[in-house]
Amino acid sequence: MKCRYRDCKNNNLVDKNIAVKVGSSYYCPECYEEKELKAKAEQYYIDKFPQTNIALIRKAFSQIYNTYEVKYLLFTMEYIIKNNKPLRMTFGLVNYCNDYKIQEQYKQLGINKEYKEIQNNIKENTDDTEVKFEYKPSKTSWLNII
Ligand SMILES: [Zn+2]
Repeated sequence: MKCRYRDCKNNNLVDKNIAVKVGSSYYCPECYEEKELKAKAEQYYIDKFPQTNIALIRKAFSQIYNTYEVKYLLFTMEYIIKNNKPLRMTFGLVNYCNDYKIQEQYKQLGINKEYKEIQNNIKENTDDTEVKFEYKPSKTSWLNII
């Protein structure tokens, strides 16, 4: 089948057995996931930042996606909100994404999450009767919207 995602990673070809079907369109599972994440990032911006010009948002986002993954953009937007940082122009997002400090925090988050998963696996393997740890992100966390 033909994957309809513009930035398909598999030359726009997807096996029908694994394809995600939406209406009459087919997507690779990973392409569909990325497409949905991008839609969520866009919605997050519209919800959180006052200046809303969809064409401009998409332009800024696509510039960011040339370098960064969607999850990092979500993390950066949440960082701006949480820390009451100013965002006077949509393209200001690019500067925030390039911020070394934010990149470090994002990396740290990934490391902590991996560490937690390892810890959980150890727990699950050593004690079956123990109540399993459940990770509950706070309501405002970017983890919640993905
Ligand atoms: Zn694809």
